[in-house]
Amino acid sequence: MTSSFFPPQRTLMGPGPSDVSPRVLGALSRPTIGHLDPLFVQLMDEIKGLLQYVFQTSNGLTIPVSAPGSAGMEACFVNLVSPGDTVIVCQNGVFGGRMKENVERCGATAIMVEDDWGQPVSVAKVEAAFAAHPEASTLAFVHAETSTGARSDVAALCALAKANNALSIVDTVTSLGGIELKVDEWGADAVYSGTQKCLSCIPGISPVTFSPAAVERIQNREHKVQSWFLDMQLVMGYWGPNAKRAYHHTAPVNDLYALHESLVMLQEEGLENAHARHLRNHKALVAGLEAMGLSMAVAEEHRLPQLNAVNIPDGVDDAEVRSALLQDFNLEIGAGLGALAGKTWRIGLMGHASSERNVLACLTALEAVLGRQGAAITTGAALPAAKAQLKG
Ligand SMILES: *Cc1c(COP(=O)(O)O)cnc(C)c1O
Repeated sequence: MTSSFFPPQRTLMGPGPSDVSPRVLGALSRPTIGHLDPLFVQLMDEIKGLLQYVFQTSNGLTIPVSAPGSAGMEACFVNLVSPGDTVIVCQNGVFGGRMKENVERCGATAIMVEDDWGQPVSVAKVEAAFAAHPEASTLAFVHAETSTGARSDVAALCALAKANNALSIVDTVTSLGGIELKVDEWGADAVYSGTQKCLSCIPGISPVTFSPAAVERIQNREHKVQSWFLDMQLVMGYWGPNAKRAYHHTAPVNDLYALHESLVMLQEEGLENAHARHLRNHKALVAGLEAMGLSMAVAEEHRLPQLNAVNIPDGVDDAEVRSALLQDFNLEIGAGLGALAGKTWRIGLMGHASSERNVLACLTALEAVLGRQGAAITTGAALPAAKAQLKG
């Protein structure tokens, strides 16, 4: 007989999923009701309103896609991009590479604008790409590159798209809820996110929002969207705006209870307060790491507070440190991805996991494990530095 699965209580400080609050887990276990039950339809409307708040948008087409962030990414590409289109894709980490894949699978051409990993997307390079490719109809980039911990300038990039009569596709999977994101004010057209990063919800849902210009492009498509499930014309019949709630697929009812709860929590805290909390805890973590003698991989002005890329000190076994943190301290931090594999650790301070307690626990555990490895670190300095930063 196979027995029930009881996971340990970990502290999730990697690139996601992040710790899910007990309130959200509680909501998840409430009784399942029908996905066309009038009370559920009411809940769907509330979720749309809450998502409009966190995205800072009045877009009518603002909904959670019933699948993880990667599906939200695909939803934006397959609906906005048609065969033969030219799309400018910015790559400064792992996720820009996935955007290129999406563009090519839509039968379109990707013009790549590349920046070093750890750097933000260069606005000047994007400007040059538009000048060289006036036929480009879409610009795609990542706001918060989770693979490197660098932040790009959404407002400037979206303005550039607009000035070149192009629509923008923006990946906000790791930014939503963690740093400022103003979809309407910044003029972003198709924006997707995820629930398991700074929203501290369970993985598996992808909030998306489409501007009126994006909706117009979707409605005027000449080619059918190649994905039936992600075709927004069909999904709109279920989620609205002004939908008659025609059956499209069975919404993940309990997952949406969880999303609703996490958004209610974010609204209670207030977006700005949540951003300030992420920044405060980030500064404390960095102060502690630097006092220990470690260095950050991203320049201060481009750092994401919710994803801290730390250079792995010389002579330290990357995998052994992460495994000891997990085994001895129930603490998960992230490995480097792609070009940064083996060179950095990624310490997430996302959503519910962005707390003073986690900052101090992580510094304590890391100091103990690095000490055991004989790493050349300063002991005893990290906690006082982090605490001083938290007070200051
Ligand atoms: C995590 C992440 C994704 C993918 O989300 P999944 O929920 O894992 O599919 C996409 N983009 C960025 C920037 C991410 O951090």
